[in-house]
Amino acid sequence: MALVVQKYGGTSVAGVERLKAVARRVAGARAVGDQLVVVVSAMGDATDSLLDLARQVSNHPPEREMDMLLATGEIVSSTLLAMALNDLGCPALSLTGAQAGIWTDASHRRARILVVDAHRLLKEMGAGRVVVVAGFQGITREMEVTTLGRGGSDTTAVALAAGLGAGRCEIYTDVEGVFTADPRLVPEARPMAEIGYEEMLELATYGAKVLHPRAVELGWLYQLQILVASSFSQAPGTCIHGGGAMEVRNKVRGIAHDTDVAKITVAGVPDRPGIAAAVFEPLARADVSVDTIVQNASVENITDLTFTVARGDLARSLDIIKEVLPGLGARELLSDSGLAKVSVVGSGIQNTPGYAARMFRVLAQKGINIQLITTSEIRITCIIDEDKVREAVGVLHHAFELEKAGD
Ligand code: ADP
Ligand code: ASP
Ligand code: MG
Repeated sequence: MALVVQKYGGTSVAGVERLKAVARRVAGARAVGDQLVVVVSAMGDATDSLLDLARQVSNHPPEREMDMLLATGEIVSSTLLAMALNDLGCPALSLTGAQAGIWTDASHRRARILVVDAHRLLKEMGAGRVVVVAGFQGITREMEVTTLGRGGSDTTAVALAAGLGAGRCEIYTDVEGVFTADPRLVPEARPMAEIGYEEMLELATYGAKVLHPRAVELGWLYQLQILVASSFSQAPGTCIHGGGAMEVRNKVRGIAHDTDVAKITVAGVPDRPGIAAAVFEPLARADVSVDTIVQNASVENITDLTFTVARGDLARSLDIIKEVLPGLGARELLSDSGLAKVSVVGSGIQNTPGYAARMFRVLAQKGINIQLITTSEIRITCIIDEDKVREAVGVLHHAFELEKAGD
């Protein structure tokens, strides 16, 4: 009898009919003998609605209260799924993240899981029940409710699978697996049969929101196979794993895009030691995550420092930098929030010249201006205007022949 963790995302539990359909799938899996832990997201866009409610009430809601509020979305769907399962004759009970033993650090809205205490889960499963866990949430040692960051139910599922020593973790969503690009943007995109952790982590980190990056990290750490598949069909889905032939490298596997990008430029700063530290230290203290950083070559000892942050962090970041600006001797502070990242990812990029040039040429042919470039060993990212992102993903997908079969 296999121990399986299944996770169903927001669209998969978006209404009563969908919840009942998920209950039938879960009951079917149990009927063939699997021991099941099921993780659910909030129904449909319930999390967005809760965020909107909070905005209507307060401009500065305490992070603690936000977590208390947001955690309710997943509690609702978990209870309803447990009810639907019991109605089908499948004994089930719902548990909050805290009841399921998910202990986190105290960083509200982006908490990290420290430990999974599986006692309660094992006890309930031992009594023959399917356990339905509210995703995206945990509890601190001080018994404060936390959430794991948007999309975090995937991470709940993989963490539980690792904590329970499950044989499989299955992530059910509204598309038939991991595609070569977001199928909503590129109709020719293809689902992949399999992909390695490293490539998947780059895709997820750079915007392929089909999987939370931290879920991939955890899967990699615990060498746990993750299946991403549709809750709406029986299609086989994508297996994420650590295997793969030693020296066979995949050229470009996929294109990721991310529109949550804002750019800040501290223009006309003296090129002397300490400037970068003076800018980035206060941002780090405020827990602002800074992405691409570029410093221009200086002309007459004057340079520009440019970096990107998530759009939600732009206003806060500008306030912080305005405070240190007088001490920097900078000419001006500029910002732009209408940007996007487009990335090509593939282990074949490593040590193979020509991919970057091809990417830049393809974008240039469409008149798409590249504002910033960053790379890793297996990724090339260009920052471009947001209104060009759909076109950019489409032409790159075609240029790297990703519509052709060839996993
Ligand atoms: P869930 O609610 O099930 O967690 P998400 O909305 O978080 O689902 O993630 C699924 C969505 O991710 C898809 O509907 C798709 O638009 C988007 N997506 C982005 N990039 C990819 C990709 N490379 N492959 C598959 N889906 C992708
Ligand atoms: N409901 C949360 C969100 O919308 C978590 C998740 O769906 O994974 O971000
Ligand atoms: Mg998701």
